[in-house]
Amino acid sequence: MEDKQLQAYKKNNALLCQFIIKLSSFYEGFSDKVDGELKTLRGHLSGTPNFSLATVSINKLNVALQHQDISLRKYSLETVSSIEDAMKQLQKIIFEDEALRGLATQELIKLNQPVSDIFSIYRLYARAVQLHRVALGKHVKGLLSGDSATPETATSTQRQSAEDDGTERGSAHFYRSIFIELNQLVTSYTEKKPNDRQLLDIKKRLDQGMANEQLLESCVVVLRMIVQDAMTEASLTGKVIQGLHTSLGKIGEDVSKSIDGSKAQFEQRTASNAELKTYIDNIEEAVSTTDSFDALKTQTQSCIKVLSKTLTDTQASDSESQTALISLLSSMQDRINKLQQQTDSYKRKIAEQVMQSKTDALTRLPNRQAYNEQLAIAHQHFQSSKKPLSIALIDIDFFKSINDKFGHSAGDKTLQLVSRAFKRHMAGDQFLARWGGEEFVVLLPNTNETKLREKLEAIRKDLESMQLKFKQEKVVITVSLGGTSFTSTDTIDSAFERADKYLYQAKRNGRNQVVTDIDAQK
Ligand code: GH3
Ligand code: MG
Ligand code: MG
Repeated sequence: MEDKQLQAYKKNNALLCQFIIKLSSFYEGFSDKVDGELKTLRGHLSGTPNFSLATVSINKLNVALQHQDISLRKYSLETVSSIEDAMKQLQKIIFEDEALRGLATQELIKLNQPVSDIFSIYRLYARAVQLHRVALGKHVKGLLSGDSATPETATSTQRQSAEDDGTERGSAHFYRSIFIELNQLVTSYTEKKPNDRQLLDIKKRLDQGMANEQLLESCVVVLRMIVQDAMTEASLTGKVIQGLHTSLGKIGEDVSKSIDGSKAQFEQRTASNAELKTYIDNIEEAVSTTDSFDALKTQTQSCIKVLSKTLTDTQASDSESQTALISLLSSMQDRINKLQQQTDSYKRKIAEQVMQSKTDALTRLPNRQAYNEQLAIAHQHFQSSKKPLSIALIDIDFFKSINDKFGHSAGDKTLQLVSRAFKRHMAGDQFLARWGGEEFVVLLPNTNETKLREKLEAIRKDLESMQLKFKQEKVVITVSLGGTSFTSTDTIDSAFERADKYLYQAKRNGRNQVVTDIDAQK
């Protein structure tokens, strides 16, 4: 072998040895056995390499690697799927907390994207752990504020962690209520403007779960739309009011014209009367002073001529002004009729607007505002009459999967069909409203615990037996229901919260069921 070639081999050998040493250090931590053998190999290859011993080491390593039943790729897949399982479990536990659930959904979306390197798994892991920590913090705080552990019995560490979480909890609550409000607004606006791209985009993003910042931005966009609409409405209202003013002004003019006319007529009549009196006085004087009959006759005849002319003139002027008055009155009548029509249509418009503002655009059911008003009335009646009053919340089970599987418009259709089914169960003064999303609320006056349970069970069964069909697939929709009867110490909120608690109990127990005071006492 030539000297030059030998030198080149030696150089390449040294390069390869260094590379193997670095690579083996990089992969340290894979397994104890492989780590140990790699260390030995590094020893053989450093300084002056001993290739005979290095070969022994390499053979052992080959065997060890062959018997490792896990490759990095498999490890990545398994880890990601275990994080995914953990996140899904977490979602079940935190399902009543929309903000946390939103974050968990975002994590799940990320977990479903390809993992390019092993280090990105650590980032996913770190975020999942962080979310678990927040959820745990909330849970601890929930326990601390519940009956089972008062702050006095909690340890100081627990108390501290719960306090730290206070603002986070507050802001999550804040964003949750914004989310619900915005969802409702957007739903009713898309109903009004079904082709508005911006609205449809917001609606889509809301369904996918939105970051807080995006949520606030979307609020601004929607509010701007509402203000614009309100301004258009206001200018319409302004036009109607302008019309009313014009009509009223015209009537005012007519009335003052009529008063002026009457005044002039009165003055004219007074003048005519004075004239007539003069002539009658003249006749009287003629009778008393004239002794010749012929002279008296001539004088009287001339007086009567003048008198009758005056009377004819007065009559003519009377009938002229009467005709003018009649035409004035009839034009006034016309204007009043027109005004009446305008006022009626304006009243109708206002009544319609009030109705719209209390109706949910998608389901045509009363909305939350209408419900709040109705509840205040029903509660007052309950307090004064002492007749039972019950309240129930209904939530469609796994509704999100309808959207996910068949699209948003199938989800909308479902909401409409389900609303109609609920409505069939409402009689007399029973009241049903869409609370928001896929949640409904029912007010049942004169309904005690037993009757409440029967009613809710009937609704549940009805829904269960109703079959829908989307994309040729039969779909069964079920609902969970929570209901309670007001007690004398209940406030509006406390009864609602109890019904809400029962609803989530029904969800936890497996959905498609009713939980009421009766079940809770068991
Ligand atoms: P659970 O049984 O726990 O109640 O599960 P769920 O899927 O019914 O509940 P979740 O709260 O996870 O999802 C409710 C979904 O309802 C989320 C939202 O996208 C959807 N939604 C809310 N309002 C509307 C709407 O007006 N139309 C449509 N199509 N979907 C809506
Ligand atoms: Mg819900
Ligand atoms: Mg639901």
